[in-house]
Parts: sequence; C-alpha cells; structure tokens
Amino acid sequence: MAAIAFEHFEDSLELLNPLKDFAPERQRIEVYRDPLLGHTSVYNPAIEQGLKVFLNDVDRDLVARLAHEGPAHCVFCPDRVAGVARFPDDWIPGGTVRVGEAVAFPNLIAMGGHHSVAIVSEAHFLELHEFSPERIGNAWAALRRVAQAAQRHDPNAAWLSMHGNYLFPAGASLMHPHFQMLIGSEPYSHHARLARGCRDYLAREGTPYHRDLIELERASGDRYIAATGRWHWLAAFSPLGSNEIVAVHETDGDLLRLDEGELRDLARGLSATLRFYEDLGHLSFNYTLYARREPARPDGFQCLLRIITRQNPAPDYRCDDFYLQKGLQTELMLHRPETLAAGARPFFGS
Ligand SMILES: [Zn+2]
Repeated sequence: MAAIAFEHFEDSLELLNPLKDFAPERQRIEVYRDPLLGHTSVYNPAIEQGLKVFLNDVDRDLVARLAHEGPAHCVFCPDRVAGVARFPDDWIPGGTVRVGEAVAFPNLIAMGGHHSVAIVSEAHFLELHEFSPERIGNAWAALRRVAQAAQRHDPNAAWLSMHGNYLFPAGASLMHPHFQMLIGSEPYSHHARLARGCRDYLAREGTPYHRDLIELERASGDRYIAATGRWHWLAAFSPLGSNEIVAVHETDGDLLRLDEGELRDLARGLSATLRFYEDLGHLSFNYTLYARREPARPDGFQCLLRIITRQNPAPDYRCDDFYLQKGLQTELMLHRPETLAAGARPFFGS
C-alpha cells in the first residue's frame, strides 16, 4: 500500500500587482500528480479567490429560451422519439429499449463500437437536481440491456464506457438529457492507460490499485466522501476535469457482472454529486464510466466513474478546455480536493 504516493510539488510567480498599487507579490502554485497515471493538475489559491474570471454565471434567460424553443424540433422529445434509429430486431426486439422514461437506441453516427444513446427524461431540460436516481438508473438499465445484447452477438465487444455530456459547453449537440455508451474491441487512449496502470500495479504490488486506494483514502478521510452500496466516492487527488469526483466499485471491472441494483446504487451517488454541483453554481457536466469484459486472468481493473463540471452556458462563455488541458493534459483545480470532498458529504447524507 505504501506504493500509492500522493505527490505534489510547488512552483511560483513573482509580479508587481497592478490591482494592489504594484505591490510585489509571490504566487505559489501547487501541482498534484495522479498516483496511478502520473497526470498533473494545478491549484493556485488566487484562482479560488477570483473564481469569476474562470467560471461565469449561468445565463438563465438563454437557458429558458433554449428550453422553451427546443422541443419544437428536438428528435428526443416524446412527440418525435419514434423517429430515432433502431437496432435490428434479432438484437433488440422492437429496435429500442424502454425503461421508465428512458429510451435506448443506436447513435446515428458511431464514434466507437456499438455506440448507443439513452434519453434520460421526457422533459427537454432538467435542472441538475432533477437528474434523480430513478431517471439515471433507468437510463443505465436501458443501456445495460443493449450491452447484454452486444455481449451475446459480438465476442470482441470488450471495452465498455458510458458517458454524459450535459449542455453545449460540455459538447452536447442536443439540450435534451441523454447518455451515451461505447463498447469497442480495443480500449481508447485513457481507458487503455487506466487498464495498463491497473495491470502493472497488480503485477508489482500483488493487490488491485483501486482497492488499495479506497482503503487508504477511507483511512485518512480527507478526500473520501461516502459509499453507496459497493461504490466508494472520492474527490480526485489529481483531477482530469474541474471539480472531479470519482466512484470506484469495490471489486468488479465488468459492468455486466453487476446486477441492475448495483447500477442503481451508482445512480444514487451520481444524483447526489449533481445536486452538489448545482449548489456550487454549475449546470453543465461530463461523466465517464470505465469498464471492461472480465478477462481470463485477473488484471486488477475495477469499474471507475469520473464526473466533472464544465463551463456554465452563456452566449459569451469562456471555454474551460484550453492549452493547459489540450496541450499539457493538465487540469486547473478550482478547489482543493479536500475542500470538494467536505462540500460533497452532506449531499450523500454523510
Ligand atoms: Zn427534447
């Protein structure tokens, strides 16, 4: 367990600050490194103090107009949903999967194997607190049935990921709440790095990385948030996106070995996280759930969910994905992970 090291280092900047009558100032920059994959994130207390430079408010008039005008032409709204793509009948009888308000079907333009979509709600727009455990759980249950069909029909469908892009700053082409799923024969780059990291750690240390991480984080308590069933929720030490919260399954890396109840435990946690994000003033988010088909030999991989906030919707919003993320694969931390975990706990009832 000593193999997990929470490393950070410091850099600094000296300036004469025009906002303080050109008084000399030294800014301290803290850089955090992910213990498994090595990616870095940067925190500068000055950012938290001047947060509005980095995070604009939600433009409520714009959101209200888009929510009002969208349903007239939205293909995911109940009046038009019969027109979405369908799976062949021998895959999914009837072509789509319906669970409560959720409807799952193939994506019209695939970006990966078995690329599928699940509409989350009949409503064209949801506030974050309206992503209830039931709605999230139903959408995941519908995608799970698509994944089961893929598993039956395609022996190469091994690398499964589920995703959410909510609102245009998060990359969503439609406002209507929807999730996506890819199941490829080979893992995409981050999925592959994660799997390689887990495999190397198991070979080196003899125990799965995320099992050790949960144990360590739970014992120290600073970044540990709560458990929902066998899912453990943490604030990421070195995030890949703003306000990243992660959930790790206690043992399994194959989502299809978990029953629907375990997905609903995960949905409770995602719903709680989104209520927390709303409380922080956010409306746009991404998440990714990484899984893979159980291999013949143990590889130390455990299902992992990463959730991040994105910039708030406004006509002149500033994109939060710039050279730091695109060119240096380094995230800007708006809060320390320990602050984030402390803020999230009440939303999990802990
Ligand atoms: Zn709609």
